[in-house]
Amino acid sequence: MTDSFDVIVIGAGPGGYVAAIRCAQLGLSTACIDNLINHKGDPALGGTCLNVGCIPSKALLDSSEQYHRLVHRFPAHGIKAKGVSMDVPTMQNRKESIVEGLTSGIAQLFKANKVTSIHGFGRLTMDNTVNVIDESGQIMRTLVGRDIILAPGSTPAHLPKIPFDHEFVLDSTGALNLENVPKRLGIIGAGVIGLELGSVWNRLGSEVTLLEALDDFLPVADHQVAREARRQFTKQGLDIRLGAAVSKLSKSKNGLRVHFLQKDADDSVEVDRVVVAIGRRPATDGVISADSGVGTDSRGFIVVDDECRTNVPNVWAIGDAVRGPMLAHKSSEEGMAVAERIAGGKAHVDFNCVPWVIYTSPEIAWVGRTENELKAAGHDIRTGSFPFAATGRARAMEEPVGFVKMVADAKTDRLLGVHMIGPHVSELINECVLAMEYQASSEDLARTIHAHPSLSEAVHEAALAVDRRAIHKVN
Ligand code: FAD
Ligand code: AMP
Repeated sequence: MTDSFDVIVIGAGPGGYVAAIRCAQLGLSTACIDNLINHKGDPALGGTCLNVGCIPSKALLDSSEQYHRLVHRFPAHGIKAKGVSMDVPTMQNRKESIVEGLTSGIAQLFKANKVTSIHGFGRLTMDNTVNVIDESGQIMRTLVGRDIILAPGSTPAHLPKIPFDHEFVLDSTGALNLENVPKRLGIIGAGVIGLELGSVWNRLGSEVTLLEALDDFLPVADHQVAREARRQFTKQGLDIRLGAAVSKLSKSKNGLRVHFLQKDADDSVEVDRVVVAIGRRPATDGVISADSGVGTDSRGFIVVDDECRTNVPNVWAIGDAVRGPMLAHKSSEEGMAVAERIAGGKAHVDFNCVPWVIYTSPEIAWVGRTENELKAAGHDIRTGSFPFAATGRARAMEEPVGFVKMVADAKTDRLLGVHMIGPHVSELINECVLAMEYQASSEDLARTIHAHPSLSEAVHEAALAVDRRAIHKVN
């Protein structure tokens, strides 16, 4: 029997599940197919983000940060604690219950919105037909959709010479599930995921070595932010080796030896476990059969236009499996926009206004373009920055670290980018995203009243500093 739907969504991550809910809200009959099985062996919605990405990593970052504060930062407040210890299984159980609460919440939202949720592997064939395949490879059901949204997401990239054994050589999921603190942890790749996972285990006592092939640290971030981040992370004990391209792994007497090439010389480091965090690749294998006609590029990304249309009419693709940053909120925004377009409405995603956050301590966040990028493109710009140490709130919180930096067009004063490192910048950045979405000038932010005392005063003062009129620093 063939079931027909207005829309069939493949993948129930933050791209797919949001698209499915929005389609249903718009009155379209919608099915969402997902094949994720959680660590208990049960189907779970929410994709990478809820199950093995954003949410579990933030749960562990929070637990490890609380522990680290209690041991290292509370004494400055006069709080003394004796016999503090970390119970890793309890930390992991807390993480699991958060994940379970949120993933089961998606199931409830599907029910309430009348989204038909189907467990299995969806494969798009010709004429908008989707086969749902079970674990044994058998076709369980065949569906036809007027529109198809492909949202299969991404999986961890691996190094061919260092395959995952999921015991000693781990991917990000393995690094989120460790049941005890490794004495020495090697992390290959000092990108967003490597830094977040490295921070978790470093705070809990691991000696963490990050091996990064590039010579620059965090080249996607503003150069001053990256420099301050490196300084802070090194102070925290992260051993960051740049220009260190990992080539292979060998067994040593007391653990594992990770071999890398640095400045044309062979070097190595001995660790107990290794996490490979070298990026992610689109999870498009088997999702699109050749007769569907949907095009992918040489790296497996589904080729789409700015509005997420593939080359086949009525077939759309969103999220990590298409061009652009691999971020949950980017996937969700594309999902909502595609739903609106399918329903005949208008939608707009401003890819220049996608916030980036790294949830280390201090946090790092930005939106828009960097000073260096703009200068290289020949833009005439003005910048203003302001340190958190000059705000009363950051000092009262005992977190006087980092700064806010604003970049504006020299002639029109339009905001082109905002870059931050410091306390709670994951929250502060959103004011700047809104400002950029509304095409605000730095003057607009400078003339907006910010509560005192609050961390957002650093945003206000950075905006004032663009015009050299910050009050609480010498311009
Ligand atoms: P996914 O979340 O990958 O979901 C795709 C779903 O589709 C999966 O459930 C998959 O099993 C399923 N699927 C795939 N193929 C098929 C098929 N053929 N049939 C049926 N189902 C299929 N992003 C942030 O914005 N903030 C963060 O803090 C953050 N932290 C992260 C931390 C870690 C450790 C990791 C690994 C990622 C993190 N990310 C973060 C990235 C974020 O998780 C992804 O950008 C986001 O999940 C992408 O959403 P998606 O819907 O495109 O795909
Ligand atoms: P991200 O793209 O944020 O996930 O970060 C992944 C990081 O891993 C990038 O900075 C890459 O340069 C780095 N990387 C990729 N391959 C290697 C390798 N063989 N050795 C060390 N670092 C690597």
